[in-house]
Amino acid sequence: MTDRQKIGWGLIGASDIAKTRMIEAINGQPDSAVVAVMSANEERAKHYAAENGIAHYYASVDALLANPDVDVVYISTTNDRHKSELTLAAKAGKHVLCEKPLALTLSDAREMLETCQQAHVVLGTNHHLRNAVTHRTVRRLIKEGAIGKPLAARVFHAVYLPPRLQGWRLQKREAGGGVILDITVHDADALHFALDDDAEEVVALSGQQGLAQSSLEDAVMGAIRFRSGLLAQFHDAFTIKHARTGLEVYGSEGSLIGEDVMTQEPKGRIFLQRGDQREEVDLGEHENLYAHQVRHFNAAVKGQGAPFTTGEDGVRSLAVATAVLESTKSGQRVAVRY
Ligand code: NDP
Repeated sequence: MTDRQKIGWGLIGASDIAKTRMIEAINGQPDSAVVAVMSANEERAKHYAAENGIAHYYASVDALLANPDVDVVYISTTNDRHKSELTLAAKAGKHVLCEKPLALTLSDAREMLETCQQAHVVLGTNHHLRNAVTHRTVRRLIKEGAIGKPLAARVFHAVYLPPRLQGWRLQKREAGGGVILDITVHDADALHFALDDDAEEVVALSGQQGLAQSSLEDAVMGAIRFRSGLLAQFHDAFTIKHARTGLEVYGSEGSLIGEDVMTQEPKGRIFLQRGDQREEVDLGEHENLYAHQVRHFNAAVKGQGAPFTTGEDGVRSLAVATAVLESTKSGQRVAVRY
């Protein structure tokens, strides 16, 4: 940041997620504002800038990076573009909040982390779920011993992909499509965060239930074994219209039942269950998940702490997702390598 009052954010990618969540989250902070947007198509960039009140628009990453008002870039292009765009941004000295999955392969994600470390810029991964008060509360209660030793977890994250998003996710493996890189990667981060444990081994089956094309999967179920011995099961899909989401952790002394918590909305409830007794946990205020992420990222840029979801967290979640992908292809159990 120069002598300006606010941290300037540049959007790499004229995306749906920036339009529907992130622009508001960035502009809603007292210390940041979106100042520029880049799209590979100049007409789209111009239209998107006008529609979203963004002062500058560009048709190349280099042009956006040359704007001295840009301190941070938020990368939300298709997943195949994240690495090359992050590399240019970090080398230009810009901090980076990158969408998940960081990359298509684990080795690319590791390189991205190294690039940012060498450039001394902050790197965050935009996993939203851990920003929710529901997930933060589950983690806190587990750490406080409310359920004793966590033994098992279940993640219900099967949704119906909104028609406006039924594009590259369902059609293009090369762009990073498929439900595993889209949703399972979020489950992995949510479990790592809630349990403060590392996934060690996975096994999974995927399916094509009518939406995904070519070789892509639109549904997956699997199991993960964690370092502590905890077993987790997960179900992710783009094809389920009538279900609620959930995250449940079963411990030796009690269980935490999260209802409607695998969501982008600031909502959901947490129950503490002991035997037949179920008591709702008071969560206080629900804060917008993306605002919470941006608030912490801005602080990290100012040297106050780390992003709420770091680059390392993005590597860890991708390690699980790529292992799940490999297991669905090979039919084998796959060790998670970080
Ligand atoms: P979009 O499909 O909206 O945008 C991705 C890219 O596709 C854009 O950068 C744009 O390229 C191109 N594009 C978009 N619309 C059009 C169009 N009408 N015509 C031509 N090209 C178009 O992607 P999403 O917003 O759904 O996802 C972007 C990233 O964000 C992904 O990495 C995804 O995984 C992540 N994501 C994260 C979420 C979260 O909660 N953390 C939720 C949703 C997505 P260009 O900019 O060059 O024009």
